[in-house]
Amino acid sequence: MNILILSTNRFLYSTRRLVETALARGHNVKVMNHTKCYVVMETNNLDVYYGDHVITDVDAIIPRIGSSVTFYGSSIIRQFEMKKVFTTLSSLALVRSRDKLRALQILASKGVPIPRTAFAKYPSDIDHLIKQVGGPPLVVKLLEGTQGLGVVLAETKKAAKSVIEAFYGLEANILVQEFIAEAAGKDVRAIVVDGKVIAAYRRVGKEGDFRSNLHRGGTGEPVKLTKEEKEIAVLAAKSLGLSIAGVDILQSNRGPLVMEVNSSPGLEGVERYSGKDVATAIIKFIEKQVNRPGKSDNIG
Ligand code: ADP
Repeated sequence: MNILILSTNRFLYSTRRLVETALARGHNVKVMNHTKCYVVMETNNLDVYYGDHVITDVDAIIPRIGSSVTFYGSSIIRQFEMKKVFTTLSSLALVRSRDKLRALQILASKGVPIPRTAFAKYPSDIDHLIKQVGGPPLVVKLLEGTQGLGVVLAETKKAAKSVIEAFYGLEANILVQEFIAEAAGKDVRAIVVDGKVIAAYRRVGKEGDFRSNLHRGGTGEPVKLTKEEKEIAVLAAKSLGLSIAGVDILQSNRGPLVMEVNSSPGLEGVERYSGKDVATAIIKFIEKQVNRPGKSDNIG
């Protein structure tokens, strides 16, 4: 097969692992920077270009789209979709999972347990917002935030009000969410490929930080998921139309709660702490899917 990985950096761990695995399994593989690709369309003719070179003979793409280029990356994926090239990440699933609000609305509507979350546009609703999520302590999240930046823990009503007011003053979109104190700065990342949890690990926040992101100095450790956690991770990925997903789960007193679903999960942390070969699972999934046209996506 000819596999094309869309990635801005061929030296990243995840990209390197996918390349070496695809090669080892006998495929041709190329890495292309999607921000340098462009699309050209005319009636009944859609192409993706890199410089003056039209990209042809691709059997499958593996998009690894960073959050700063979601819109542009989705246009490149869409062009390949229109050319009937198999993709491990559909353009629609990428866009819907990157929008934290939209993703939580879909997850909630599909019965996936999530922390109670509120979203409002007007500063006059602050008191109601705080009450709706059970009062302080609560978490305020910038809709555009990633890697734990833009996630604030407000421990008192006063702090919550001033943080929310400050964000409103900046015209930032924010979510207000109940704080799951018993998670104690830890969460679980489950990797779902093709409807199965194939690896997982626990992320542990830096001493004194309620955020467990590796980018914020957190670390990881092996974890064995319960049947319920696995089922919830699979349901979360399916609800968003993701065939590959990193599902972040908070272990709360009332059971697992899905916090976020990542459409381009990094492989480094999970392979290191779980000891599982995620790259091979991804390439095997592509081998199974190519030549079998995917079902159309109509979740919205
Ligand atoms: P990002 O998308 O920037 O990673 P997250 O929503 O995943 O933001 O939050 C970052 C971290 O903060 C999480 O990994 C988790 O450890 C912690 N966290 C987020 N929301 C909550 C919550 N409602 N209760 C407890 N901890 C939370």
